[in-house]
Amino acid sequence: MRFVYPQAKRKALTFSYDDGQVYDRRLAELFRSAGMKATFHLNSGNLGPERDRDTFIGAEEVKEVYRGHEIACHGVWHRNPTTLTRQQLVLELQEDRKALEKLTGGLVQGLSYAYGSYDGDVMDIAKKLGIKYSRTVQGTGGFFPPADFLAWHPTCHHDSRLMELGEQFLHVADFYELPLMYVWGHSFEFGRSGDWSVIEAFVEKMKDREDIWYATNMEIADYILATRAQEFSADGLTMHNPTAVDVWVSSKEGILVVKPGEVKYIGEQ
Ligand SMILES: [Zn+2]
Repeated sequence: MRFVYPQAKRKALTFSYDDGQVYDRRLAELFRSAGMKATFHLNSGNLGPERDRDTFIGAEEVKEVYRGHEIACHGVWHRNPTTLTRQQLVLELQEDRKALEKLTGGLVQGLSYAYGSYDGDVMDIAKKLGIKYSRTVQGTGGFFPPADFLAWHPTCHHDSRLMELGEQFLHVADFYELPLMYVWGHSFEFGRSGDWSVIEAFVEKMKDREDIWYATNMEIADYILATRAQEFSADGLTMHNPTAVDVWVSSKEGILVVKPGEVKYIGEQ
């Protein structure tokens, strides 16, 4: 058997955009109107001070601008995690979580490393502060989910091989289990130049696909982590779902949903 995404979707597409600049308004709307979901990694300390009104999203508009998307951390002041003392890093992440949770009224447990800078110590501290995943800036050009969600390498930045990789993803090889395309960047890269053509063409190409799950970073992390937490009988034919997430599998028995807490015969591949 193999795992598939919710509603038996074969693959997933997600986006991650950093820094919370005003061009996020247009980008968030572009994704939303195409039925896609993205994650926006914000620096809460930059949200809406008067001096930066033309640069950063205002705190009061966060909920509306990012409606339907995920809001996640990028550090309060966009400081480089590997240059901070441990205490400074704790404040940079914990205070960002607190501020963003106050604005959104939910849990904020996603992160992208400012400057893409991290090491084992940074990963460990982030994890201890309740961060469940964190994105790097190391594009893989591939479609494998990460081995470690605290060093989640994206597929690509939006200006390197985006359309070419999108085309590959539409015909992704069968050996990929839970294939994932993960695109990252900054909306100011479009906004400052005024050229949105790359991302608009990509969204147009990838939208309304029956076999793609359009989800936020956290939705994908939660789902894949749930698949990794599944337990199996010694003969591998029966699965126990100990998580709080519906898990979907494809096997000889067809497409099956294993509910939270359920023990189910899933059969062979
Ligand atoms: Zn940044």
